Amino acid sequence: MSRSLLTPGLQSWLQTHAQSLNADADAAQQVLAQLVQAGMHRIAVPQAFGGDGGEAIDAVDAIAQVAERSVTAAFVLWSHRAFIDYLCLTDNTAARELWLPDLLQGRLAGATGLSNAMKFLSQLEPLQVQARPDGDDGLRVAGKLPWVTNLRAPFVVAAAVQTPLQPAPMVLAIDSRLAGVERSADLDLLALRASNTAAIELDDVRVGQEAVLARDGLSFLKRARPMFLSLQCGMSLGLARASLQAAEQVGAARDVLHPRIDQARAELASLRETIREGLVSGRFVTDAPALFRVRLQLAAVVQESVQLELQGSGGRAYLRNHLPDFGRRLQESAFIPVVTPSLTQLQGELSKLASSAAAATPPAAPAPERAVP
Ligand SMILES: Cc1cc2nc3c(=O)[nH]c(=O)nc-3n(C[C@H](O)[C@H](O)[C@H](O)COP(=O)(O)OP(=O)(O)OC[C@H]3O[C@@H](n4cnc5c(N)ncnc54)[C@H](O)[C@@H]3O)c2cc1C
Repeated sequence: MSRSLLTPGLQSWLQTHAQSLNADADAAQQVLAQLVQAGMHRIAVPQAFGGDGGEAIDAVDAIAQVAERSVTAAFVLWSHRAFIDYLCLTDNTAARELWLPDLLQGRLAGATGLSNAMKFLSQLEPLQVQARPDGDDGLRVAGKLPWVTNLRAPFVVAAAVQTPLQPAPMVLAIDSRLAGVERSADLDLLALRASNTAAIELDDVRVGQEAVLARDGLSFLKRARPMFLSLQCGMSLGLARASLQAAEQVGAARDVLHPRIDQARAELASLRETIREGLVSGRFVTDAPALFRVRLQLAAVVQESVQLELQGSGGRAYLRNHLPDFGRRLQESAFIPVVTPSLTQLQGELSKLASSAAAATPPAAPAPERAVP
């Protein structure tokens, strides 16, 4: 079990605001500021880049501990932290120097609009943002990012773009202060309503070389993927833990559920250890399916945990004035399967890999005839 990474101030703010962060956008402007004030976004950012240092798993634990209190806040932290990670990975020093200090200070929000790129990689849809050269060192960018979180102005968002220069996409960082960047109103979400989630329209936006996070977007996305997905796993770890704790607290009358609670806890601990080990060894860069499976298994543990909370609470879970946290967690849990890459996309990738592995395997030799005993 990891040490507590939350300040008492952040813990109490999350406790007080968890319901409202899910149900309305009233505190949307404060979420990132609260996380930044508590230093959650600096965890495991190399000290050489101005962060607090630490192991990659610490950043996953940070998101998990926030998610135990509020998945909305955890997803905002994920967006900001994932963008910071792109800046740590990029070879473009100008990009890092331009945006990282403001992201670490919380003066700028980081966002990642890469769900389209993930689907493009799986050949599910074309890229929705196009760029063409403009002068010696610039690009003109146009298109739409239909879903992006943490768009508290000013923000900078990562997007994969198609150019006529090469078939593979580039990854660009686009600053909201540039002419032609238009943020929609917040999307009318079922839950996570204070997450600053909106669409972005890019109308002939001019960017310079500092915006190019990676010319070879595919290899960059592969390198970014282990942290991107592991940080997402933090949301599942935290939400499942919160539900299991609630399920356990509902009383001795529910002893019948304890073996399932223990089993879910053991699975969470083991999956967290798999993430820790994979991040340390670098295994997930070459063996992405191992991490896909972890995310799928965690999503199943989240569903089981929320069910345990419901079954432990019984009818009271339906009374909003008795157990309001259950209703919130039920809604928050509906987000876990659709976070990019969604469970459908992950299952699709795994079944594609299984089919190509089967096609590459030579047909088995006919079984030798059994000797009659
Ligand atoms: C609150 C919220 C915040 C979000 N924030 C962001 C953000 O910050 N950045 C961002 O980029 N996106 C964001 N998204 C978008 C989100 O990540 C997408 O919902 C996600 O990519 C799932 O895509 P989808 O909706 O098309 O559904 P999918 O799960 O992709 O599936 C939709 C359909 O497509 C088909 N399908 C999918 N994959 C396959 C496959 N491999 N093979 C065959 N069929 C398949 C299935 O039949 C399925 O019914 C957010 C969404 C929400 C709800």
